[in-house]
Amino acid sequence: MSGLIENMFAQQLEERKLLLQAAASKANDPRQIKDLLADVDRALAKITAGSYGLCENCREPIEPERLAFDPMTRYCLDHLSEIEQRALERDIDLARQIQNRLLPARDLVLRGWDSYFHYEPSGQVSGDYCDIIPIDNPAKSFYFIVGDVTGKGIAASLLMSQLHAMFRTLAGSGLSLSGLMDRINRLFCEASLTTHFATLVCGFAHETGEIEISNAGHCLPLVIREEGIERLFTSDLPLGVACETSYRAETKKLRSGESLFLYTDGLTESAAQSGELYGDNRLMDLLNDVSSVPPMNLIESCLDDLTRFSGESRKRDDLTLMALRKE
Ligand SMILES: [Zn+2]
Repeated sequence: MSGLIENMFAQQLEERKLLLQAAASKANDPRQIKDLLADVDRALAKITAGSYGLCENCREPIEPERLAFDPMTRYCLDHLSEIEQRALERDIDLARQIQNRLLPARDLVLRGWDSYFHYEPSGQVSGDYCDIIPIDNPAKSFYFIVGDVTGKGIAASLLMSQLHAMFRTLAGSGLSLSGLMDRINRLFCEASLTTHFATLVCGFAHETGEIEISNAGHCLPLVIREEGIERLFTSDLPLGVACETSYRAETKKLRSGESLFLYTDGLTESAAQSGELYGDNRLMDLLNDVSSVPPMNLIESCLDDLTRFSGESRKRDDLTLMALRKE
């Protein structure tokens, strides 16, 4: 573990210790708090001894995302007791169910647009964020968002649900798109671990075919027109990197039958058996071939091509695809 990360954990543990000490001084029966304090002291002693983050059974490193979630974790996944294993499985299954409910409805009716998305976690839960938020405002039709929190698993999925809550709360608040991104970036910087950030595309679509779109360091959005694919290059820092980032927005007009395609790097960084990556060029070729099809067919073609490329047994990363087509 690097000294920097170790320092971060030490700081978190010291903060926890102060909180527990304050609570113990007020509690009628401080025994339970004293036990927790002893756990914190044990973790701090391990940092001093250089054994922090190692499983107490096998001495192998504990999975980093479990440690980020709970800095007091003492055992690697292989050495949890049977009861702990079962509790963990129940928790993860519950997290999966909760995350599924955060996806937009499949049967949304959007003014002037057709939409479709594919959302596929690499394990039980995903660090990808996929959303469509209809807006009750005659000038705008809906917001659309595709993003990717660093890492995988529970820690990433928690941050994903945090982004979901922020966008759902602020999307209808009358902020401009740039203003919305600035605000969410500040909130995300304050709320997330310094080791985590998110790349994300957010935009809104007007009934007329105009889209406004802002990109926080994510894979470039693609406009699919009959005459070819247009990449939207305006991009700023990922969310959670620097509090004072100003996000820009780019405006495009889509004509009837033209589509916007958004994806996470689970697509382009998917590897074949040979190690070759799926890549941007193969994606462009495919989209050129299917330029005029409805969103559902477009995404199915994309998934078929990905399977052809990397085989049924491909090692899956979190994967999200979204297509929006002007009616
Ligand atoms: Zn172990």
